[in-house]
Amino acid sequence: MSATKEYALLCLENPLLDIQAQGDDALLAKYGLKPNDAILAEEKHLDIYEDLLNNYSAKLIAGGGAQNTARGAQYMLPPNSVVYLGGVGDDKYAAILHDAVKQAGLRVEYRVDKKEKTGRCGVVITGHNRSMCTDLGAANHYDLDHLKSPEVWKLVEGATHYFVGGYHLTVCPPAIQALAEEAAKNNKAFVFSLSAPFIPQFFKDPLDATAPYWDYVIGNETEALSYAENHGLETKDIKEIAKHLAALPKANTKRERVAIITQGTLPTIVVVNGQDAKEYPVHPIDTSLINDTTGAGDAFAAGFTAGLVAGVSLDQCVDQGQWLAKLSIQELGPSFPFPKQTY
Ligand code: ADP
Ligand code: MG
Ligand code: MG
Repeated sequence: MSATKEYALLCLENPLLDIQAQGDDALLAKYGLKPNDAILAEEKHLDIYEDLLNNYSAKLIAGGGAQNTARGAQYMLPPNSVVYLGGVGDDKYAAILHDAVKQAGLRVEYRVDKKEKTGRCGVVITGHNRSMCTDLGAANHYDLDHLKSPEVWKLVEGATHYFVGGYHLTVCPPAIQALAEEAAKNNKAFVFSLSAPFIPQFFKDPLDATAPYWDYVIGNETEALSYAENHGLETKDIKEIAKHLAALPKANTKRERVAIITQGTLPTIVVVNGQDAKEYPVHPIDTSLINDTTGAGDAFAAGFTAGLVAGVSLDQCVDQGQWLAKLSIQELGPSFPFPKQTY
């Protein structure tokens, strides 16, 4: 892969520690969780973390959507290519995150909050389903002051690509806006992930405020459907939804928008504004080799974005995404195999 600039890719979102376990229907029922979902924890959910640790032998795994993507992109890029921003606490959970990102060679610039706990994501696996319930904790206190602090803003100015996870819309839209404007002003690539169906549903206005800045918008089929439903699109056709996303008004007119929708084992749909939808098959894998599909989409976004940074074709970016997702689902949690494999 060609040489890239140091810290060419800067990512922002919510660093979380996943507390992941095999659960059962009774556990889902106890906390009122759907088998396949991602939600923010309410008061009634807050006991689930201790419950998972004490009664379901939960494992602690570094998570957070865009942090997974940042680790994955660094996996594919030369050393010192990726830096990640978000808020953590000053606790043992943050120490676990530091270990994980160090092992992945990912640079992090965390905003450390002395009062708040590091964010936690309870992941309940039942069969092929996974239900995620997030207590953002310190991640919820990320702020513009951190982004604009001289050391961090220098990294922003140095980067050529930004990746923002949609989950951050619940935390600090002004930080997203600052990155988005910086990207448009300097014709840098702004990549945005829709993250979860609840984002278009409950955070529609802040989401729509970022839309003009998307150069690349990445989501899965349920997120695309939620976007359509909450924006009054009269269609459930993924290609039509992708076309709509690609055609939304755009701030930086030097780049055509690209919408990318993954669909689990079904082909990934890609629309470059003004062109026909294209389909890209996933990399098939024997189901017996699948360990855990948590973070498949994050890994896809990682391989895809690493391709953008390296300057390869759009076709190859998508294929790199499928390739890295296939590696990731063979590991426990959103992680990548060592010794390293190369694309
Ligand atoms: P999310 O994790 O956001 O729900 P998807 O389920 O759409 O995202 O998965 C993203 C990508 O992960 C797919 O496009 C595909 O490349 C890969 N992937 C997911 N599940 C499988 C699978 N069972 N076999 C092969 N690839 C898969
Ligand atoms: Mg999926
Ligand atoms: Mg996803």
